[in-house]
This record gives sequence, C-alpha cells and structure tokens, in this order.
Amino acid sequence: MQLSAWVVQHVARPMAPESRTESPGPGEVIVRVAGCGVCHTDLGFFYDGVPTRHGLPLTLGHEISGVVAEAGAGAEPWLGREVVVPAVLPCGECPACRAGRGQICPKQIFPGSDVHGGFATHVRLPARGLCPVPNLGDPAVNPAGIALADLSVVADAISTPYQAIVRSGLGPGDVAVFVGAGGVGGFGIQVAAAFGAHVAAIDVNRERLTQMASHGAALTLDPAAIDVKEMRKQVRAFADARGVPSWRVKIFETSGTSQGQATAFSLLGHGGYLSVVGYTPQSVELRLSNLMAFDATAQGNWGCLPEHYPAIVDLVLNGRIALAPFIERRPLATINDVFAELHAGGVLRRLVLIPES
Ligand SMILES: [Zn+2]
Ligand SMILES: [Zn+2]
Repeated sequence: MQLSAWVVQHVARPMAPESRTESPGPGEVIVRVAGCGVCHTDLGFFYDGVPTRHGLPLTLGHEISGVVAEAGAGAEPWLGREVVVPAVLPCGECPACRAGRGQICPKQIFPGSDVHGGFATHVRLPARGLCPVPNLGDPAVNPAGIALADLSVVADAISTPYQAIVRSGLGPGDVAVFVGAGGVGGFGIQVAAAFGAHVAAIDVNRERLTQMASHGAALTLDPAAIDVKEMRKQVRAFADARGVPSWRVKIFETSGTSQGQATAFSLLGHGGYLSVVGYTPQSVELRLSNLMAFDATAQGNWGCLPEHYPAIVDLVLNGRIALAPFIERRPLATINDVFAELHAGGVLRRLVLIPES
C-alpha cells in the first residue's frame, strides 16, 4: 500500500508530506484514516521535544478513526470494518495485560510515538484492541448522523477521562469536579453527567465555562475571579446542597497545569478522591500528608483499556456525549498551520485533521 504521511524530521520544524509503502504483517491491519484529532501530547512532541519512543523522523497522531483497508494473516475479519483506534493498544498477552493492567503493558503500542501515527492517509497498526464501529448508516444506530471522522476524538479525548471516571467509582448522585474544561476535561464533564453525577467545572476560560454550563456542568468556577479558599467553599456548598458527603466528591485534574494540580489537590476533603488525568512536565509543591490526614486517595490514569471503547462509542451515538459543538474539522494538508494555531492557544475546539479523499 502506497500512503502519504506528514513526517516530523526535527523538533519544531515544519512537517512535510512523504510517500511510504507499508504492508500489514501477521495480526496487523492498514487503516485508511477518516480523521485524526490533534492532542496536547502531539504539541509536546513537536514543540517541546518530548521524546517519542520511536524517535524521529516520525508521523504523529494517536486519535484515529478509519476503515480497515488491508489485513495481514489472522486479521482478515477486520477487512472493510469501520474502527476507532484506541490511543493505547496493549499487547494482551504479557503479565500486566493478563492481570487486567493493560494501561501499563510494557509492549503497548501508542500510535504516533511507538509507531507512525494517524496524520497520514493510512496507518499500519496491530488489529488487537481496535474498536469496531456499528453501522453508522443505520438511523436506528446513529440518529444524529455522526461521521466516522468525528468519532476519532473517542480515541483519546473522550476515552481517557472515561476510564478515569470508571476507576474513580463515580456513581449517580456523586459530585464530580473537573479542574480544566478543555478537550479532555470538557468531554469528562459530559461523561460524568451521563453517569448521573452532579458536575462542577473549573476553568480560567469563561467561554469554555459558559459552554460546559449547557453540557453537564451545574456549577462553573473561574479561578481568575476567586481564590482557592473561596473555591473550596463553593464546591463544599454545592455538595452540601445536594446532600453529598466529602467521600463522594471525586476531583479530576484535567488542566495539565501545575496551578490546576495545586487547585485540585486543595479541593480534597475527608475520604476524597483525586484523579490525575492531565499532564505537565512542571512540578508542584503539595502537602502529601493531607492524603493521610483525610484518608484520601490520589490516582493517576494513563489512556483507556480497549474493552471500554464500545460503551463510549454508544454514549456518543446515543447523544449522551455531544461532539459537534466541541470539535472542528480541518484538512490534513493544513497540519502545520493547525499546530501553530493550537500552540498559540485560545482554540476552544478539538481540531480533527481530515486527509483529502
Ligand atoms: Zn492524546
Ligand atoms: Zn501487554
């Protein structure tokens, strides 16, 4: 298969399109990319020189949806299937995978870091772990007519907070607080609301808060307007008004900033739970003994196990998670401009790159 892919040769230097020939090995497939979302992590690789595991030159992109165009030995049943590609593909066979800890599988494949990713017409991947998409042409399955390309954001922006929420044990009537309402946090807010939680959103961007107020957030707080003490008070009052004790308040750090992490930690109460979903290379000073004094829990979250994906696709197709107001399609050929735009900041939507057909 002859494919065209955008390749990073050097950190922060414009990507250029390149022709490559790929054929699927045993257990592998070639996916024709329908869409590939651009993530904060891609910007880290590209601008900050965060090392990819494969090294450069490399094609980035780990938020992929598409159609299986070629299948290697043993992967033939995937041929022609529409799929979402999980951003983390565990091997399924190592001791970690067998223990149900595929997130830390040492042989996991993260497209756009371990292997060439989805900013291309096609991508070669292991078939194991792919999420089959139900028939999008069937109005009973897909009443809103959601396009396969748009489902790419399931691969990371939705699935990562989804797994964090599942792990937190968040249930109906609990309180979920999201510190950061951007790509990942915004979808997290919708997922938590779909789980029946009362959701609070904290973000420095007013526009984002306004948008989340009509997509699941019952309380919105701007840390530029109030200090941490006041934020604590308001979150406490929000939970009290709903009869929710501190041990049923789950905090999700989705800003990926050191300020956000400090804020999230300071919101922990007795028996509280903190999920660290966002990433920053910066460190932050915390009094870790609060965990001891409050008998509280802090947990990190990496990616999302493939087994959760079908339920997430269902939430999107059922309209429980809105995509349209939160994403924007751009031609793949504009990738360098898109990266520059995201790097400059202020983009409110998840940008999805679409290869020219
Ligand atoms: Zn990502
Ligand atoms: Zn494994």
